[in-house]
Amino acid sequence: MLDLNVCKSRHCKNLGVANAPEYEYNVRPLGFLSMRCGACSATPPMLDNQSYGLMWRYWHQQIALLTGKRCPSCASRKIKRFGQSANGKPRLCCNQCDKTFSIRTPVMKGQQALVEQIQDQLQTAANGDLLKQLAAQKGVHFDRACEQLKRSALQALWLEPSATQMASVVFTLPYKGKGNQLWGIVTTDKQTGRILHISTTLFPVYLPTLGRYQSCVDAPPLLTQANDSSIELANKQEQRFLLRQQFDRCDFGPAILGNKTHSHALPVLTAHAHFSVLNSLDHGNSGGVHALYHEVFLRGACITQFAHAVKNHHMALIYVKGETKGELQLANIRKLGWWQNQWQEYRDESGTTKAYSVLVGKSELLPEEICLSTANQAVEFIQQRMQKLDLAQFTASRVESLMVALAAQYTENERDKQSSSR
Ligand SMILES: [Zn+2]
Ligand SMILES: [Zn+2]
Repeated sequence: MLDLNVCKSRHCKNLGVANAPEYEYNVRPLGFLSMRCGACSATPPMLDNQSYGLMWRYWHQQIALLTGKRCPSCASRKIKRFGQSANGKPRLCCNQCDKTFSIRTPVMKGQQALVEQIQDQLQTAANGDLLKQLAAQKGVHFDRACEQLKRSALQALWLEPSATQMASVVFTLPYKGKGNQLWGIVTTDKQTGRILHISTTLFPVYLPTLGRYQSCVDAPPLLTQANDSSIELANKQEQRFLLRQQFDRCDFGPAILGNKTHSHALPVLTAHAHFSVLNSLDHGNSGGVHALYHEVFLRGACITQFAHAVKNHHMALIYVKGETKGELQLANIRKLGWWQNQWQEYRDESGTTKAYSVLVGKSELLPEEICLSTANQAVEFIQQRMQKLDLAQFTASRVESLMVALAAQYTENERDKQSSSR
């Protein structure tokens, strides 16, 4: 597991390095708890490694048990085949710690038909109550059915081949209770459009206070005008980050949960855990391009989790704002925000603009290819289906499971489209 309290500056020798001699911890240069890297003078906020550790272990165990790509005990990638278990399942053995394990069957014996029926209904039904009725008819608790749907969906997403071009965006989804929302991230393979991973702040453990989300004072909402170009919107967003009480804290409403078996993690920790999963699944490890939604802490989380690729393989991280169609003309170049990152704005034939900023690395992509469209389309699909089925009536964990099931369906649809167009 990574120590999250590391330097996150792109040119610093301490990028991603734990316990560097130049570090000072628990300083308050901006009023909130930060660390200081003496080598580059950066002062990133302190992050709760204890909560992150719980999240990291949970996700890595899931990856191990659903894909066999990692050891569930020590997270090593060095896994070999090791005969069969008593019930005929292939067994795997870790070269590092010698422990053996089997890949888990995501759906319990006898419940495959139910899970498939619910999957079908997710595509076609007009109302989510039907899903509950299906489970009740089979005498299965709906939470149990949702859990299995989620596991089999994650397994499908996590077996996608490793990607070199990714796009990640953040989104929210409503759940039961006034103003309650999940905050999440989805990452797609830019070349195939398929979803590689989707995760939210919801976590099946009551996290320590430091890592737990609580509704907070965020900056006032963006005041935008209809004729604001993408670069102007990016500029306003950068100003907004600085108005936050702590720049990596965003508010997404009360997010109340019924009991203490679950909690919402801070979005910044959710982002770290999300990118660590992508890394573990070998996405982006041989370098490439990662286009990011313009949220300030996504950069820090991504550069930390991919520090190795950023340093050695020239992975490019790019913030993108706006979406365009067809050929582009360069319209504007400006430096924006606290970090004075250079942004470029392009205009398409209809006058629509897109702006982006290459945060680290060099991208070989054309301006036309630098976009978040695959990730935006995936979110749109999930949000539309959720709304149509009225899934906001369900608890947070049910909404989350059904969201992952919809993500797997989206990916299957994309796969079908590609094989039929071939
Ligand atoms: Zn530094
Ligand atoms: Zn091991």
